[in-house]
Amino acid sequence: MALFSILTLFPDVVEAYLDVGVLGIARARGIVQANVVDFRDFSRDRHRTVDDRPFGGGPGMVLKPEPIVEAVEWIEQHHGPHRRIAMTPDGQPFDQKMAEGFAAAMIADPPVTTDLPLRPGSPSSVLLLCGRYEGFDERALQVLDFERLSIGDYVLAGGELAALVIVEAIARLLPGTLGDSRSAIEDSFGDSADGGLDHPHFTRPRVFRGIEVPDVLLSGDHARIHDWRKQQSETRTKAVRPDLTQRLHPKG
Ligand code: SAM
Repeated sequence: MALFSILTLFPDVVEAYLDVGVLGIARARGIVQANVVDFRDFSRDRHRTVDDRPFGGGPGMVLKPEPIVEAVEWIEQHHGPHRRIAMTPDGQPFDQKMAEGFAAAMIADPPVTTDLPLRPGSPSSVLLLCGRYEGFDERALQVLDFERLSIGDYVLAGGELAALVIVEAIARLLPGTLGDSRSAIEDSFGDSADGGLDHPHFTRPRVFRGIEVPDVLLSGDHARIHDWRKQQSETRTKAVRPDLTQRLHPKG
């Protein structure tokens, strides 16, 4: 259903994560296909150089445009056009709404089969470019008309974690990935929480280090349990993330 092409200088790290948990299941079920490409393979010199010193001076190295552009062109020749996204702290902040938008577009798109290339311009094909060092030569992003996404207001050493965050947030919303499709709806930022935070969860034992599971959860009264969870979710959202409450009820 979805193809994620990930351009990175650390393909082993990315592959390892894509193999486990929810993403491993989504791949095994054919819901997600992943195509991890080392853009160092597109360097033209014998030292396999992908970076150089910045024009204008200053610390650090900058990723050269040629290997990136040629890697993207190669991927698209072999797997069809993608929605191209660069991981960068100066990008649009990625959030659950955005993940839902990606997933909805993928669901609406015809399913991916093993007969690549995909339909041109397919929203089911997303290319994620992972930076390193000081980031990309600006022209690589301009030439290929990249969108830019950030996963938060902090700076990581590379875009791999950011790309995996995005892939996982989207993949778990695709039908068939999670064992119980209600999980995604009932999570934080989902419809059940009115876009706010999740309620607390408890499992066995009933008493742990002197702390008891709230009685209501043992009552078997589903209406009461539902009301308790909703109230807990609201209280937690107001206390920890009042900004989410404001967004939902701007005048409240
Ligand atoms: N010079 C860049 C700046 O100040 O915005 C930081 C570059 S960072 C050290 C190296 C790479 O990590 C970036 O090119 C990007 O791919 C990735 N990265 C770091 N923080 C990120 C974030 N919050 N969201 C997405 N990608 C991030």
